[in-house]
Parts: sequence; C-alpha cells; structure tokens
Amino acid sequence: MAFEGLADRLQATMQKIRGKGKVSEADVKAMMREVRLALLEADVNFKVVKQFVNKVSERAVGQDVMKSLTPGQQVIKVVKEELTELMGGEQSQIATAKRPPTVIMMAGLQGAGKTTTTGKLANLLRKKYNKKPLLVAADIYRPAAIKQLETLGKQLDLPVFSMGDKVSPVEIARQAIDKAKEEHHDYVLIDTAGRLHIDNELMGELKEIKEIATPDEIFLVVDAMTGQDAVNVAQNFNDQLEISGVILTKLDGDTRGGAALSIRSVTEKPIKFVGMGEKMDALEAFHPERMASRILGMGDMLTLIEKAQTSVDEEKAKELEQKFRTASFTLDDFLDQLGQVKNMGPLDELLKMMPGANKIKGMDNLQVDEKQIGHVEAIIRSMTMKEKEQPEIINAGRRRRIAKGSGTSVQEVNRLLKQFEEMKKMMKQMTGMQQKGKKKGGFK
Ligand code: GDP
Repeated sequence: MAFEGLADRLQATMQKIRGKGKVSEADVKAMMREVRLALLEADVNFKVVKQFVNKVSERAVGQDVMKSLTPGQQVIKVVKEELTELMGGEQSQIATAKRPPTVIMMAGLQGAGKTTTTGKLANLLRKKYNKKPLLVAADIYRPAAIKQLETLGKQLDLPVFSMGDKVSPVEIARQAIDKAKEEHHDYVLIDTAGRLHIDNELMGELKEIKEIATPDEIFLVVDAMTGQDAVNVAQNFNDQLEISGVILTKLDGDTRGGAALSIRSVTEKPIKFVGMGEKMDALEAFHPERMASRILGMGDMLTLIEKAQTSVDEEKAKELEQKFRTASFTLDDFLDQLGQVKNMGPLDELLKMMPGANKIKGMDNLQVDEKQIGHVEAIIRSMTMKEKEQPEIINAGRRRRIAKGSGTSVQEVNRLLKQFEEMKKMMKQMTGMQQKGKKKGGFK
C-alpha cells in the first residue's frame, strides 16, 4: 500500500502532540517542521507542501485550537481536515448525461494502465451502479491494445466495439456512440491511444475525438509510481485537453504517495478513482476524507464495509447466519466462507483499513499467510462428503489419506479439525445463550 513511509512519520509526529493539555506556538512549529519533511520525503510537490504547512500552522495556532480543552487533538483534527482538502475535499461523483449514453473518454500515456482501467471502470459501473457499458477500442496504433480490450471484454462478459486498426479513432468513436444509442447502452468508455511521451500528434487526435464525442468525462489515467512525473503529465494533459478527473493507478504498489497528494492542488482536477491492483475488481472510488484517515492511522472502516457488501453474496450470508444459529455449520460452509473473505482482496490490505491496526505490535509489517488459507482449502477439498458433514468419523487412517491428498501434513489436518470443533462448540454456546435470552425476553 502507498503512503506507508508518510503514514508512519505523520503518525509518530501526531503521537507527540496528541495528549498535550497545552500546545504552544513553538510546539506547533516543531511539529510542522516534521510534517514538512515527511511530505517532501513522500514526494509531494514542494509548492503544495509550503501551502499546506502554512495553512495548518495558521489554523493550529488560532484561538479556537489553543484555548480548547484538548488542543493536541484539535491540532490533529486540523491536519486531517487540511489533508482531506488537499486531496479534493468531497468525493466527486461520476457524471451522468441527461440523455444517455454518458460518454467517458479515457486518456493517458502508454503503460499507465489505461486499458486495464477502462475494463475495471466498466466492471464497476455494471456491478455497483447497475449500468450497461460499451467498451470502445480506439487505440489503433498498438494492435495489441485492441486485442487486450477485447480479451478484457470477454473476461468480464461486456461488449467491445472495435473496427480494427484501419479506421480513424474519430470515426470509431462516432460509430460507437451511434451503436450505443441504438442498443441502449448507458455508458460508452472510449479507450484512446497512448504514447510514450506527450506529443502534438497525440494531443491533436485526442482533441478531435473530444470534439466528435463530446464526452461527459475525460479521465486521465496516471501511474502513481511515477510520482511528480504523474503530476506533470496531469498538468500537461489538463492544459491541452481540459480533463475532468484523474484516475491514479498502482496505488497498491510501493509508491510514496506524492502524486495523490499533489495532483488536485496542481491541476485543480479531482482524483476520481484509484487502482489498487491488476485484477478487474481492483478499482476504488477515491474518498479524500477516508484516505486522510488511513494516512493518519485512523482506519477506513467504510471502505472495508463496502468491500464486504460488494463481494459477499447476500443470499449466502443469510443462509450462513441460519446455519450459525442452528449450529449446523459444516466444513463445506467453512470452505465457502473462506472463499468469500478471499474475494474481498489481499488480507493484509484489509487489515490495514482497521482503525489502529498499525499500532498493534507486529501488524505494521504483517504478512497474512495466504498460503495457509490455501492449505486449509486443500484439506477440506480432500475430504469425502460424509467426512465434511460428520468430521467425527475422521480417524487416524482418514487423516493420513487427507494429508496426502491435500499435500499437507497430518498435523495440519489435526489442527484444522480441532479448530473447527472448537468453533462449533462456541456456536452451540452462543445459540444456547440466545435461546435462554429469548425465554427471558432479553435477546432479540
Ligand atoms: P496502458 O498502456 O496505459 O493501456 O496500460 P495497461 O492497461 O496495458 O497496463 C499496464 C500494466 O499496468 C499492466 O501490466 C497492468 O496490469 C498494470 N496495472 C494497471 N493498473 C494497475 C494497478 O492499479 N495496480 C497494479 N499493480 N498494476 C496495474
């Protein structure tokens, strides 16, 4: 995850001031010196750093903060508010045309992740907003790009409009929009050509597409790993094309995060989405406040809950709850549940969204062993139906067979069975408690 260095440093700085009953101007000054260094080290644009530090200092030595009962905490609140503001304040929504289809033009340099993000965005529009998007392959200079988008379309089961590489991108865009109208698509996502560098030819072509397609949004895709280069690219594209928002990719990588903190101030255009991985569901709406909260170690429960809601099947969750209540939960259900948790994304990323998780010893460089989950799955899959339903019949011989079949050890099989038995015991106790409570009219 990005921002790790920045988060560590800011949190250490905040820790010093948090509990203070009295904060002097000198305290604020000392703190801001550290904040400034932390931001510069995270590769935030130096002008942006200067403005930020001035603003926070001014507010922090203001009467309201100094005279409050908890000045230390008030200073942190100011830092959080200004950090949120720096990233754009409110979350900005995706446009919807009055008359469909809404046209979104995707632009960006080669390798930034434009084609991948086009697929991810279409997937998100369909999954989260129930929309019917049409993908358009308009990068005719890189034949592989057309193929790439077609493959993504197949994988996502979404239609891709392409006319090969002999027709001009402008014509492709025109015909795609006509087709979208005919077939009642509500979103059209045009994957335009990328280049290694910004050049006049590229800009000329993008301007022509813009004129014909009159897009409701022009999203510029930039790679967070490139730091200040990403900010420069954004500024350049914005000057020439007037973009409506930025999608910052590869924020899952080891980036220092400077781009995320500078783009808005420098270009005055919001970051709308962030790419958090290579998979098609790894695109998140960008919420400045939640991101500020994450950076300051206050967690991001909202994103976590949303992830759970989109990746866990509601029907299944209900069914599971019923099984929990009646303690008829089997190893097969356990397997199912593991699969659902895995769908939410890498476990260590999820844990980091929990408030204070970074304060728990060992959590900061925690690597959840996903291999181990794989072993548990393999063990359960190596059992027969009967064994899964009645694990008590699994004797020593069966344990050896299961260990062999799953490529694990008898110890691992033993451990899993013991854990499962304890889990069931606990469920029974909980169910018992609920029933007793019900009789007394206590629990609902
Ligand atoms: P384009 O040339 O801009 O169309 O770039 P591509 O869509 O082909 O992406 C370039 C590479 O970046 C591919 O290997 C993608 O899988 C990868 N990529 C795109 N977005 C992300 C992201 O958010 N995180 C990570 N880790 N990789 C990404």
